[in-house]
Amino acid sequence: MRRFTSYILLLIIFFSPFSFAADGPDSTRILRVADAPAFVVNIRHAPHPDHTRIVIDLSRPVLYSLTWISETTLAVELSPAVLGVILQEKRSLSIQEKFLKKIEIKKAERDKITLLIAFKASGEYKVFTLPNPDRLVIDVFLPKPEDEVEGELNRSDSTIRIPAPFEIKTIVIDPGHGGKDPGASSRRGLTEKDIVLDVALRLKELVQRELKKKVIMTRDEDVFVSLKDRTELANQKKADLFISIHVNSAPKQHTKGIEIYLLGRATDEAAIATAARENATSEEAALNLQELILNDLEREFTLNASLELAHHTQEALIKHLIPSYPTTALGVKQAPFFVLAHTDMPAILAEISFLSNKIEEKRLRTKRYRQHVAEAIYKGIKAYIQSLKTGF
Ligand SMILES: [Zn+2]
Repeated sequence: MRRFTSYILLLIIFFSPFSFAADGPDSTRILRVADAPAFVVNIRHAPHPDHTRIVIDLSRPVLYSLTWISETTLAVELSPAVLGVILQEKRSLSIQEKFLKKIEIKKAERDKITLLIAFKASGEYKVFTLPNPDRLVIDVFLPKPEDEVEGELNRSDSTIRIPAPFEIKTIVIDPGHGGKDPGASSRRGLTEKDIVLDVALRLKELVQRELKKKVIMTRDEDVFVSLKDRTELANQKKADLFISIHVNSAPKQHTKGIEIYLLGRATDEAAIATAARENATSEEAALNLQELILNDLEREFTLNASLELAHHTQEALIKHLIPSYPTTALGVKQAPFFVLAHTDMPAILAEISFLSNKIEEKRLRTKRYRQHVAEAIYKGIKAYIQSLKTGF
């Protein structure tokens, strides 16, 4: 496959922008939708015995092309695409991996990104895409040097070493609010603190029974626990994952959906508003926290892992919850949440529906829905743990 440039049309445009040119106000909207660039959310890599896998996380499908520009450098062009928050400040990743040397990010034109992936030898690649969330996966197969093949024949136990997988032993489940802090509440008096405690206890049961993992609850009854105590508990116990469960609320009644948050610069104004509400601070304080966390580069591993966990959870919700309870998958978002900023382990915050929406409020009242939500989140955690073994 090498030496050939493969252009693959991944973006399926259902509406040709031109056919809407005469349609008045709508044409602008459709043009914008068709032209909207994808965010390159993250770039991950994992060594496998005979290949290196590079996964590019995208917010939507893009056009891509791959070319070997030298014996050992593969250029990946993405368009229309822009860099997501995590990658904006980090344009070059030096890598200590068996085959892979370096990934460089170049912004070629306004909405075109070129990744230069440098290997230690020349090889062949396979490229494919995965949906929900959209990913571009590149597997590069590199031939083993001859002396190594001999070495392996002589010492059959010294095959290529994959770094020890990050093992999940303890999971903290954090039902938001409690006691004097009810969180969001509906017109009919249903409170966030009660819903999330019930969902969290159901999730605990599933994680313990099915995954055989240790679960620590930040609260298991209707008591007030400060955000600081929640994160300190998780850090002290050296938990491996932190799952915070909340219910959303919005000024507009028609707003609905499920969203998964991880720590980062707020994706939009609604995300800042949600973080401010959950942090029980002003939007200004949430923005200050945002500046603080962005300077903390040590969080890189945790952020990447959180993003993975967030994507798997989001995918599980789309697959296992939304078919029975139609709503909007609002996606994986970033915002400066206190509980996510102060935990030392991969952490996500799930906003399971809007208490301010009539239909979703009705669902949140039922045990059946709460059990479904717990099961979907559990499946997300399970898929994430599985991915640590397989590199997806
Ligand atoms: Zn909340």
